[in-house]
Amino acid sequence: MSVPARANELQIPQRMKAWVLGGPDELRLVEKPVPQPGVAEVLVRIGATAVCGTDLEVISRGAPALVQGGTPFNKNFTPGHEYMGTVVRLGPGVDEFDVGDRIAVEIHAGCGRCERCREGMYTACLNYGMNYGDHDKGHRANGFTTDGGFAEYAVNHVNTLSPVPADMSDEEATLIVTAGTVIYGLDVLGGLIAGQSVVVTGPGPIGLMGVGMAKALGASPVVLTGTERDRRRLDIGRTLGADEVIDVSRENAVEAVMRITRGRGAHYVLECSGAPNALNDAAHMASRGGRICLVAFPHEPVPVDVAHLVSNNIYLFGIRGEGRSATRRGAALMAQKRFPAKLLHTHTFSFEEVPTAIQYASQRIEDAIKVVVKMH
Ligand SMILES: [Zn+2]
Ligand SMILES: [Zn+2]
Repeated sequence: MSVPARANELQIPQRMKAWVLGGPDELRLVEKPVPQPGVAEVLVRIGATAVCGTDLEVISRGAPALVQGGTPFNKNFTPGHEYMGTVVRLGPGVDEFDVGDRIAVEIHAGCGRCERCREGMYTACLNYGMNYGDHDKGHRANGFTTDGGFAEYAVNHVNTLSPVPADMSDEEATLIVTAGTVIYGLDVLGGLIAGQSVVVTGPGPIGLMGVGMAKALGASPVVLTGTERDRRRLDIGRTLGADEVIDVSRENAVEAVMRITRGRGAHYVLECSGAPNALNDAAHMASRGGRICLVAFPHEPVPVDVAHLVSNNIYLFGIRGEGRSATRRGAALMAQKRFPAKLLHTHTFSFEEVPTAIQYASQRIEDAIKVVVKMH
């Protein structure tokens, strides 16, 4: 008598290779037990993991990671949060996914019991980091409060999984969480952008993804700003759909936006640069009644013309990660191939080369944009 092939018949080893964080900027390749999925969780065999700017923060400074109530250093903690892979084992009660499904993951599984989670704002969960010992409220954030993607396997809540179409590469699928961040930003700005102007300040991965998505959703015009150093990124921005590209080393960004919008200012500004002057510039680029979403942030407090914001009824939003199932919607938009998202991926390294991948991303070696670590 034959039994149908199920998850738990797959050959899954007891132990796996994983990168762990020692002190600041110290990564070590070690062996760890393969984690076991609990209720509403699956075990993912990781296919590829992208390096994100926030990984660099975690590895060097610790925050915003919060492991067992403190810094992530010397806790056998594995960073990495932008990963994709294959479901290889189902936890109890899981019927939303099957073994063999290709999926990308988003970062946060909310606790589901706090006020913010109940509003769909699970990336702003009030129980962030509360996932250990007597403090276990159920919240998980891959690569921030629980082990992440620089390993062979990881456990994920079913809520964090987005299906990956068969014709999307592993490398491109690691960009899905970036797409989720952009969709969440557009959500808080109002969501409907067809025929409205969008300025994206800063051509990093999120900014470039923002250009592609705003264009795909019908925004017009889409404007991208960057510096002389960003020349290649600005060219990619054009290919992704920017109608106008502003090199702020040559032209004043606010004046350029006013020229392009015939003195009105933009409906929406998506701030993705984190430059110290960016918010103040955004305030002066937005039209009266316009909206600004802050995605990137500077490390120091910055001066802003608050009177201009108030007297012009300009709305200012901050977003944290990607809530309200934005990642699944971002994945769907990428699957429709409405813009060439894969242009963001510039470099691939093997699992053994994680430190080199991180170096390429942090120092922008060879004009790196998205650096991906591929497992197989
Ligand atoms: Zn990220
Ligand atoms: Zn919560």
